[in-house]
Parts: sequence; structure tokens; C-alpha cells
Amino acid sequence: MALERNNREKELLLKGLPIAPGLVIGKALVWKHKKIKLNRRILPPEERAKELEHFHRTRNLMLGELEKLKRNLPPRITRFVDFQIAVLKDSEFIKDVEYLIKEKGRTAEYAVYEAIEDRINELLKSEIEYYRDRAKELETLYYDFVSYLRNEEKREVIGSDVVIFADDITIEESIRIVNSDVKAVVLQEGGKTSHAAIILRDYRIPAVFGVGDFSDKVTNGDVVIINGWKGEVIINPSKPTLERFKELVAKYNEEAKGLVEIKDLPTITTDGRGITLMANIDLPEEITLVLEEGAHGIGLFRTELLFYEYGDDEEKQEEIYREICSKVYPFPCIIRAFDLGGDKVIKGYREKNPFLGLRGIRLLLEEEERFRKQIRAVLKANEEGNIKFMIPMVTTLWEVKRSRAIFHEEAEKLSEARSVEIKLPDFGIMVEVPSVALTIKAFAEYIDFASIGTNDLTQYTLAVDRRNTRVSYLFHHTHPAVLKLIKMVVQAGREYSFRVGVCGEISSDPVGIVLLLGLGITELSLTPSLVLQTKKLIRRIAIEDVEKLAEKALNLADGEEVTRMIMDYIREKAPDIVEKYGNF
Ligand code: PEP
Ligand code: MG
Repeated sequence: MALERNNREKELLLKGLPIAPGLVIGKALVWKHKKIKLNRRILPPEERAKELEHFHRTRNLMLGELEKLKRNLPPRITRFVDFQIAVLKDSEFIKDVEYLIKEKGRTAEYAVYEAIEDRINELLKSEIEYYRDRAKELETLYYDFVSYLRNEEKREVIGSDVVIFADDITIEESIRIVNSDVKAVVLQEGGKTSHAAIILRDYRIPAVFGVGDFSDKVTNGDVVIINGWKGEVIINPSKPTLERFKELVAKYNEEAKGLVEIKDLPTITTDGRGITLMANIDLPEEITLVLEEGAHGIGLFRTELLFYEYGDDEEKQEEIYREICSKVYPFPCIIRAFDLGGDKVIKGYREKNPFLGLRGIRLLLEEEERFRKQIRAVLKANEEGNIKFMIPMVTTLWEVKRSRAIFHEEAEKLSEARSVEIKLPDFGIMVEVPSVALTIKAFAEYIDFASIGTNDLTQYTLAVDRRNTRVSYLFHHTHPAVLKLIKMVVQAGREYSFRVGVCGEISSDPVGIVLLLGLGITELSLTPSLVLQTKKLIRRIAIEDVEKLAEKALNLADGEEVTRMIMDYIREKAPDIVEKYGNF
């Protein structure tokens, strides 16, 4: 229809989640939906044996394909394939499907659906994104299974400069995508910890997920611009937009080459202040990016996702901590104790106001055995001696004293049991609550380091829920009130000789970085993919300048004023960075 065509040809902006960074222009390849209409026919008894055989043949075929797929994969990706293989080999699953076909006369596809459905629904109900993402993995396994049963053709990558648009992609498809020359991926659904997100990030394919239904907005061959930094997709850009982005992409590619060149250069300001850049990770797989970007350690290893996957299994934790920390050796690896509660809900703790409730260290001290297990895993994993341990959401000195006592008790017990002296990791706290920043001197005696978590510090200082999009316009980690608290911690660190770093999102924000350096911060921990970018910015900054700016910022009225002032400075020193992020 003419009207429809006109609509499609108009420039259109879709907003989603920034999943993997990068800026590209390409041509849309729209994959047809995986969602299928089930064949719910009830089979007469004489057809059931044949259907059963069809199921087993397909299962074997799929297992064979998955094993083949695994052959050339790095171990960090293999685990996704292993998960699917485990489900297909699961005796309960096989028994359920056999029963449904033989006794209930289900078609194979319907039986497989029923056998998996409960597990998917259970996971989908979860408030935890990580579990919902696992449900998606099962769902895509099911779609694959049905495609195999129906002998359908695979959704292929056709053409060059392709940007895939799909409802969701299966593990097998994610792997095929990263092995082809797809430029970017846009998904209707999908979360930050989904298999697709992890695989695409790992292979540096720009991606934007969660853009919603695009079925009447994009067609094959449409020109599209993907900004994986901002989570934006522009469909059918107007001529001026396209020209502007062509220039930006060229600059970005040029800059990306330049970034590789600075990997081995020191992170140092123009007037000689050395800055340590570390990376934040949530998943063990992210270590690849950390190493590729040349980060000098892990400044925040969030352990909640490990908890969701393995519970508080001590051996598993020890194994993962040892592996990750030895990979960043000789640089430090700061492991944070489970920060459960708040937005990281765990079963059984539903509270009216969870961010002010039983969260972080409060919960760990109430469930001491879980805390002790984690401490033991950390202590045992510290063979290289580069592990540091920190506790989240501290609000009182008692929590610090008690945690430290438990930490030392476990270290002593372990040392006795092994009759060797163990390497005691440094012990630190996260400063995420204004009252702790304001009284930080009282904590000094009990800590080796403090890491400022500006995500929570901002939320608690400004009374703005960090997850609520309706008030996100009020969330400014560069607000002078937050900056004043950071300054107090830096000064106390100097006076009482404990190290101070920052690991909140402010460390990934160019405006924030300028301010932090001006406030005297020398250790930043940030998103792994931004380490080189940040190094580039820092190498153009003079401490002398940014100290003055930070001092001025402390006296401004709000975060917006501060941001405007600092943006002017960045525009002057690093105009390319301003353009990439747009109006951040
Ligand atoms: C923070 O609060 O700034 C922080 C780094 O911790 P999280 O985002 O995990 O709460
Ligand atoms: Mg926090």
C-alpha cells in the first residue's frame, strides 16, 4: 500500500537497550518470526510409534549438530551449547515427551512444548532478569527443535553489510552470526545477560535489544543506523542524518584504530598524574574484554549472577574466583560479596521498599553461613595473592567490624586446617550510602580500601529510584551533593591512608571522569569496553584544569549545570568523544 510505503520511507528512531557498543550503517535483513503455531492434533494410537521415532531421530540429529557447533568455540561460549545439550539429554525431559506422545497422543512438537513449558513459565515469572534470560534460552531451544522436526530451512545471513532484525535469536544463530560478517543485530526482545548479548559483546558485534515490535517499521534492504553505545536504531535515515552518521562512522573507525595503538601507553594526564583503570564484570565471560582492553585489574566483580546460577556453592565459587583472578594477575581483582536484596531480589524476600530493606551486608550478616562460604571461597582462591574482598551496602560501623571479624575467623580456621599461612586479601567497603561517606573517618581503622558506588550513592542522596524511568531525569551522578560526598571520602583516604576508588557508572561517563579526576580520584573501575576510550580521554586532561572545574562544580545548583560546564571542557579537549555519545 502506498501509504504504508511512505511511512516506511520516513526516518524512524527506535530506542532499546544498549547491549554491545559500536556505530554502524547497514542494510536491514528482517528474519521471520520464530514464534510458531503448534500442531495440537491428537494422534490416533496407530500413528504414535512413528511420531515417537520422529522425536528420537530429531533429538539425535540436533544433538549431533550441537556437538559439531561446539568444536570450534572458545570455552566461554561452549557453556551455552552445553546447556542445550544437557536439556536434550535430560532423562526427565525424554520421559515426559515419550509419555505425552505415547499415552496422550500429542504430536512431537506439542509434546516437546509441554515438556519444556513449565520450566519456561517458572523462569519467566521471576523478578530477576537473569532467570528470565535463561527462560529465553529454553524457548529458543524449543523453536530450534520444532524447526528440526518440521525440517524447516534455517534463517540465513544473506548479503553483505547486513544488520539482522529478529524477534529473538537462538544460540546456534548467535554463533553463526558472529562467524559471518553481520554488522549489527537488533532484537525485539532480549536482556543484558541473555546468551545472544554475551556472545555478541564477546565478538564485538554492535547490538541493540528490546526495541519492541518492528514488524511494520522495517523491511529487507532498508538503510539502518545502529548506535550500540546509546541503544538507538535509525531506520531509513534522511539524507542529512545519513551524511552526518557516515562522517561519524568514519571518525569512529579511525578512532578505533587509534585506540588499539594506545593500549600499551600509560594512563596518564597531560601534567603527569597516573590513573589506574580497572573494569567491572558481572559474568566470568567478560574477562576476555577486560584483557583485550588492557584494564589493570578488576575493580568490581559483582557476584550476584554467580549466585543465581550456582547458589552459594563454595567449590564452584572458588573455582571461578581462582580462574578469573589468575587471568588478571598481577593486577588486583576486587570480589564483592553477594549484594542480594534491593533490585537483585532473591526468593522469599519480598519487601515493600527493598532498596531500604534487607539488602547487601545486612542480608549477609543475617544469613551468616552463606557469607562464610563466600569468604572461604575467596580465601582459598587467593593463591596468587591479588584478590581483594569488599562488602556492599554498608550503613554502620558495626557491620564492618562484624564482617571483618568473620573474615579473620575464617582465615584463621583455614590456615589451621591447612597448616600454612594463607594470603589474607585486603578488606574493603563500598561507600554507597550518604551517612557512610559523611562519617567515613570512623571507618578508616577497619578498612584497607573504599570503593565508591555512585549508582546507589546517587539514588540515596537524591532520593531517586535508580530503576524508575519516570524519575530518571532527576538521576544525576554528577550532582554537586554527590560530588561533595566523593570529595569527603577522597580526603579521608589521604588523611588515614586507605585507598579510594570509584566503581559506579560515573566512571564510564566522560563528564564523570573529568570530575572524579578533579576531585583527586586515581582509581576508576568501569565498563570493560570503555577502558581504552577512557584512557584516551584521560591522556588529554590536565589535572590542573579539572581540579578547578571540580571545585566550581561543588558550588553549582544541580547535575545539569555541572554537566553543561564539563561538556564545554570535553568539547574543547576531545570533540570526537562528545559526538559519539551525542547529547549525553
Ligand atoms: C553502585 O551502586 O554504584 C555499584 C557499583 O553497585 P551496584 O550497581 O551493583 O549496586
Ligand atoms: Mg550498589
